[in-house]
Formats: sequence, structure tokens, C-alpha cells
Amino acid sequence: MIDEKLFYKRHTCIICKRKRYEYYMKSVLKSSWACKDKYHFQYCCDNKEIEIAENIRQELKKLKFIKIQHIIGK
Ligand SMILES: [Zn+2]
Repeated sequence: MIDEKLFYKRHTCIICKRKRYEYYMKSVLKSSWACKDKYHFQYCCDNKEIEIAENIRQELKKLKFIKIQHIIGK
């Protein structure tokens, strides 16, 4: 049984930028989404960049004083 809310909600994939239903996606990083569609073999969620970004996110958690804004100069 598919949760109706899950099925009708749509997100934009951070990798291919396509808008898809949440049912065909995977939650990645903090509040982003990437395709995980076994029917169309679309696996943006396996993209190497997500892994790199996740590593950066984990590293940032170790910083108490320095924020990402300090690093990228925003
Ligand atoms: Zn995608």
C-alpha cells in the first residue's frame, strides 16, 4: 500500500533537476531529493557528488565556530 501523500508530493532532483514524485526519489543531505527510480533506472541518488557533499556535511558538524559561509566567503 502506497502512502498517498508520499505519492503526490513532488521534488526537484538536485542532480538532474527534474521534478518527480517523492515515491521515485530518495531524501539526500539535509533537506534535498534525488531520483531513485528502479522502473526507469534513474539513480541520481548514487551520484558521487552526493557522497562528497554528505562527507562535507559530516565534517562541518565538527566545526563549532567556523560556518560554511566563512569557508565559501558568502
Ligand atoms: Zn535525478
